[in-house]
Amino acid sequence: MKKEELLNLRNMGIVAHIDAGKTTTTERILYYTGKIYKMGEVDEGSTEMDWMAQERERGITITAAATTCFWKDARINIIDTPGHVDFTVEVVRSLRVLDGMIAIFCGVGGVEPQSETVWRYANKYNVPRIAFVNKLDRIGSDFNRVLEEMKTKLFAKIVKLQIPIYKKDEFIGVIDILERKQIIWDEESKGMKFYEEPIPKKLKDEIEFERENIIEVVAEYDDKICEKYLAGKEIATPEIKLLIRKGTIKNAVVPVLCGSAFKNKGIQSLLDAVVDYLPSPLDVEAVKGINPITNKEEVRETSDEVPFSALSFKLATDSYVGQLIYLKIYSGILRQGEIVYNVNRDKKERISRLLRMHANKREDIQEASAGDIVACVGLKFTRTGDTLSNIKNPILLESIQFPEPVISVAIEPKTQADQQKLSEALSKLQDEDPTFKVKFEAETLQTLISGMGELHLEIITDRLTREFSVGANIGKPMVSYRETIKTNSRGEGKYIRQSGGRGQYGHCIIELYPNTGNGFIFENKIKGGVIKEEYISSIKNGIEEAMTSGILGGYPVIDIKAILIDGSYHEVDSSEIAFKIAGSIAFREAMKNAYPILMEPIMKLEIYTPEPNLGEVIADINVRRGKIINLTEKASLKIVDAMVPLAEMFGYATDLRSLTQGRATYTMEFFRYEEVPDDIVKKFLDVSLYRKSVA
Ligand code: GDP
Repeated sequence: MKKEELLNLRNMGIVAHIDAGKTTTTERILYYTGKIYKMGEVDEGSTEMDWMAQERERGITITAAATTCFWKDARINIIDTPGHVDFTVEVVRSLRVLDGMIAIFCGVGGVEPQSETVWRYANKYNVPRIAFVNKLDRIGSDFNRVLEEMKTKLFAKIVKLQIPIYKKDEFIGVIDILERKQIIWDEESKGMKFYEEPIPKKLKDEIEFERENIIEVVAEYDDKICEKYLAGKEIATPEIKLLIRKGTIKNAVVPVLCGSAFKNKGIQSLLDAVVDYLPSPLDVEAVKGINPITNKEEVRETSDEVPFSALSFKLATDSYVGQLIYLKIYSGILRQGEIVYNVNRDKKERISRLLRMHANKREDIQEASAGDIVACVGLKFTRTGDTLSNIKNPILLESIQFPEPVISVAIEPKTQADQQKLSEALSKLQDEDPTFKVKFEAETLQTLISGMGELHLEIITDRLTREFSVGANIGKPMVSYRETIKTNSRGEGKYIRQSGGRGQYGHCIIELYPNTGNGFIFENKIKGGVIKEEYISSIKNGIEEAMTSGILGGYPVIDIKAILIDGSYHEVDSSEIAFKIAGSIAFREAMKNAYPILMEPIMKLEIYTPEPNLGEVIADINVRRGKIINLTEKASLKIVDAMVPLAEMFGYATDLRSLTQGRATYTMEFFRYEEVPDDIVKKFLDVSLYRKSVA
């Protein structure tokens, strides 16, 4: 891509609280940029972005679909992101690859709890943003109140660019403060036409005052213009725009616009603002990564001249082309037919097709450049978060971190005929979504699916029926427990069978240590070759296999260090499989004596409640074994921060609603695993079997 083209490229996401109007706004953007010819309505279930059937029904956007459109000289890649907290993983992964975003707020609801959560994520990933206050046609909407909330709740330094105009309570246009003019939309043409008029005399002073305010906020972002301003000289509109752009790219200020997506108002100015203020790939810092050969850090500038590197940020199954992988290209050029290197998997992959996506339509392209977002077909090993690079110049970019799933349900096919289809569909869904896991429990002969929340699993089971036409029965949601140990111990594993002919011989002794927060580590400390080198990894594999199902309740075992200290082998009878089994036996033996404990997911809960309900809300948290961490206040609401075991939180949405007559809202996120208190464990597990040896 030429430099001017890169400067005119915008990779942006649209994020918002659920129902603020993200889907409608995206839809209008696609309409005005000429990509679609019939405007869809969320309520009629015909929007372009929400192409999955159940998204239409629910009216919410679940998977991030990337789409490209053009506005004036700019190319805009839009990643649609979901608003529900159960899908923050989708938001996070898009923030990782975006250069900027539009945050949409509802003109009535204002800054809602989930907007704050997403805003904090955007701060964490340092994503520059502009804000759009939507739904100003609705009764009860108040642009200025939302601006105040953005200041007090989000601590945003805002740049107010517009003032809404009402005629007898009807929202008809906006005043463009910088251009000193007013824009009145033409209802008949669905807002495609609008009239520009001079501002009424009586508003002149107010507009000048607002204009001055803008300059004051952003003057510091350019020394020359700042000097001019301090010297009392007139600052021209293009200069102010440049200042706002600089401040926005620095992520120091947030330009705010307003409108009504539903009534086709304000979308053109929003698109202008995207081009004027959001960064191009050249404005953001060059990406860094590790060269896997030298282990040194390297930088890849956003340029076609440097070796190719890209991050895969989304896998999706497409009914026409099969598996699609979305890539953000950070450097170099990617060509159709080319072979690239997957650094994470150490595999070469061929790009058989390169596509530019428009929701569920696609356009084949021959090549794509640094800074762009595209989808490709033909990759066999690549998963979400992997780096692809030029074969000769490998680099490993920082991956996207995904949380472990915390909730599971048992799933079974409705009929025999569904059996095969079910396992295929689940495996596809697992490939797409790094926070969705499938596991077969050998002991209970059950398949368990796990995810990030009740709604997450509900959507998945919905997709099974709709997209994959599989009938399945679902059990009750269950907490995904983990097991670990509290003390050191030793275990011996012998797998010896000698009955004529070639037998089996595997023998090892291991020690286990708690390894809190550091996962699984295996060390080999045997002396004098008492076990042949070739069998060591089999012992490790045996331990890892045993760890998938712990001795307490068959839950995965985490945070353990295993040291191989002794054993023996037989010249003829020993085999890899015999040592693998010996490793498993030794592990189970050792774990019994290591004070095994059960760990449960603890959730971070944030509740917004009116003062009169505070007492009941807190009492209820205590009943749920929760701990109150903090109590603060924002606007007229009390905010309760608490840590609560997930096991106590099923159905909380309904309970909180009835407790507060629907006045309180909350957000919940996974925080960490903690030990389950013994009195709770005893209700469903017999730990006494393993606790005798401990004083
Ligand atoms: P999302 O959940 O953020 O994607 O929100 P949607 O775009 O699905 O909108 C949620 C609801 O608000 C739908 O019923 C829309 O028709 C409605 N809506 C969206 N924008 C506006 C608007 O500007 N004014 C009004 N009155 N309703 C809107």
